[in-house]
Amino acid sequence: MFLYSALCGFSLTRLSCLLLVVLSLTLCPAIAQSSLDPELEQQLDKYLVLARDDVEAADEFLDVLFNSHYKDETDSDNIASQVRLLSYQASALLYQQQQAQADALLKKLLLIAQRSNDPDVLSEIYATEIEFTFYQREISAAVIKADRLEMFLEQASLPRVRYYAHNLLGRLFRADGQYESALQHFTSALDAVIATDDQFTLRRRSILNYLIAQVYADLKQWPEAKVLTEELIADAIKYQFTRFLPDLYLMLGFIVAEQKDLSAAITINQLGLAAAKEHDRPNVELTFQNNLGSIYIQQENYNAAKQVLETAATRAGELSDEYNGQIIAFNLGYIDVMTGEHNSGLANMLIALDYFKNNETKAQYEPMLEWLARAYEKAGLYQLQAQTLLQQLELRAEILTSEREKSVNELQNRYDTKAKSQLITILEQENNLKAQLLDNQKLQQQLTALFALVLIFAAVLLYQLYRKVRQSNRKLREANKQLEFQSLRDPLTGLFNRRALQEQMQRRAKYGRRQSDATPHANGFLLLDIDYFKKINDNHGHAAGDEVLKQLSDRLTQVCREQDLVIRWGGEEFLLYLDNIIPEQVAGFCQRILEVIASEPIVCDGNTIAVSTSGGFIHLPFAGIDESELNWERALQIADMALYLSKVNGRNQIYAITGLRCDYATANEALTTDLQGAIRQNMVDYITIKGPQLT
Ligand code: GH3
Ligand code: MG
Ligand code: MG
Repeated sequence: MFLYSALCGFSLTRLSCLLLVVLSLTLCPAIAQSSLDPELEQQLDKYLVLARDDVEAADEFLDVLFNSHYKDETDSDNIASQVRLLSYQASALLYQQQQAQADALLKKLLLIAQRSNDPDVLSEIYATEIEFTFYQREISAAVIKADRLEMFLEQASLPRVRYYAHNLLGRLFRADGQYESALQHFTSALDAVIATDDQFTLRRRSILNYLIAQVYADLKQWPEAKVLTEELIADAIKYQFTRFLPDLYLMLGFIVAEQKDLSAAITINQLGLAAAKEHDRPNVELTFQNNLGSIYIQQENYNAAKQVLETAATRAGELSDEYNGQIIAFNLGYIDVMTGEHNSGLANMLIALDYFKNNETKAQYEPMLEWLARAYEKAGLYQLQAQTLLQQLELRAEILTSEREKSVNELQNRYDTKAKSQLITILEQENNLKAQLLDNQKLQQQLTALFALVLIFAAVLLYQLYRKVRQSNRKLREANKQLEFQSLRDPLTGLFNRRALQEQMQRRAKYGRRQSDATPHANGFLLLDIDYFKKINDNHGHAAGDEVLKQLSDRLTQVCREQDLVIRWGGEEFLLYLDNIIPEQVAGFCQRILEVIASEPIVCDGNTIAVSTSGGFIHLPFAGIDESELNWERALQIADMALYLSKVNGRNQIYAITGLRCDYATANEALTTDLQGAIRQNMVDYITIKGPQLT
């Protein structure tokens, strides 16, 4: 039985390699999408059709297509089609053993992957990368890369890509002994194939079912494996895919033999042998013959076994197939021993065994020892039998230890690589995070700087605005002051005008009115009128008259105190509103006024002009009479009358009306209509103050 297993295992491995090429090139046509170039897609489909029948012609076609259609840019419009083209060419070069060129293209693909977020594009690229690793038989490294592909593959939508990648992962996991995962991926690939309906669908489905049947066999699920393989054989005959019939029979024969149905196994191997002959597969032919021989041996049908194996031996010689030749020689030796030719048989077995000892692994060599032991037993060489069995046990222990070590090492290595790749991912993420944090910080700094700048700018603007407002306020205040000044002043002399007095009187009424009984006669009016002013104008001109008025104003201002108002009352009339002047001061003050006007002549343009004035004085309030009865206007009328008396009685003098000798009601009318009469009737107290002698 060991012979059969060994041979069968060998031929299945060969078959897998063959299928790898076929499968990787047999891909579904894509659904039209924006990143696809319809013309290129069509050409690539054509390449697949070609590859099915003539790999060399297909490779040439692909070369031409690649040279005419490949754009060496990572952000082409039809990136998915470009990636498909690049992947096909990379794989084709790989299988043509042009490793360096293939690697260069893979590098380009991985560069594209760095800039893409399309799950179809990423799946195709990472699948191609895994295919490369898998091709080098670096199974562990490929399995580690599978994680990433599986992640993108979940979101991939193109059936072609899904088929390709799942198929590849299925084969990879099978090679890694992860049969359940392999089965899942093959089933997913089958789903992707079923999503398409074209001339290839059936064929692809068959290939996948074949792969699935292999996994069932790996899992020793013989009934499932058998049903599927039988279906495949039926389909192959029905649809004329007879090229794979030898492989399918090989597998079915293996399954049935494992189920211990030896007669069925013989039939199947015979069918397979015929198919291999028909399709010119001499090596497979040898395998079928070997298998038949080994089944006959198990049935102890040594004649039949010898017959088929001798034919096989000749064929192996013709094909210079040393490996198969040695297996056949070993089997023939065993048959010799079993049929009584102990010495020659054992000698042949030992020669073959030597070949395997030197050329094959311990694992392949070890089961042969069991058959050698059986042969020794048959020959009655029990000591040698025991030695051989002991040797086999030791070898088994060795293999087990080294296998265990290998698998532990493998696991450790895989764990390390995975941990390392995870660490790298974490580091990358950390770096990204740091970079982002740094970016954020930078942005924040920029924002803060901008904000500060805006603040400064706003502050400067505000300050300027504030200064402007203050300036204009000041100007306004100055203008107002000016205006106020102008509205209250006489333009020629700069003295206050009538309005100023009115305002003063309003203020006085509001705040400053003194109660008559508290401080009587607190304030006073002195009304002045320049004597014979017309003459000054006439003699010296109007301008000189103006000049005289100005100088007189200065003289009056000098005599008065700060709190007094000096008012230009009319043309050459002045009014002094005197603050806080008690009766005892009146005569003195009036005297000073008369003198300041008349004692010195006015000098103007070289002319000396003698000037005098006449005046009338009155207290406000007057004679203790409440101002509601005798207000300031009335008081001024009386002062005017007093002035008039000064004029008519000789000028250059002041009449000061200082009190009443009767009640106000009695004197009231006379005070302004006939002051002279009132004085005569002794109603009024008054004094006259004479001016200086004119020079
Ligand atoms: P009196 O008062 O002594 O009776 O004689 P008077 O010549 O001064 O007579 P009155 O007061 O009636 O005349 C005032 C004159 O003063 C009239 C006018 O020509 C003159 N006068 C009035 N205002 C101005 C002025 O602003 N400038 C000049 N130069 N003369 C003025
Ligand atoms: Mg006058
Ligand atoms: Mg006058």
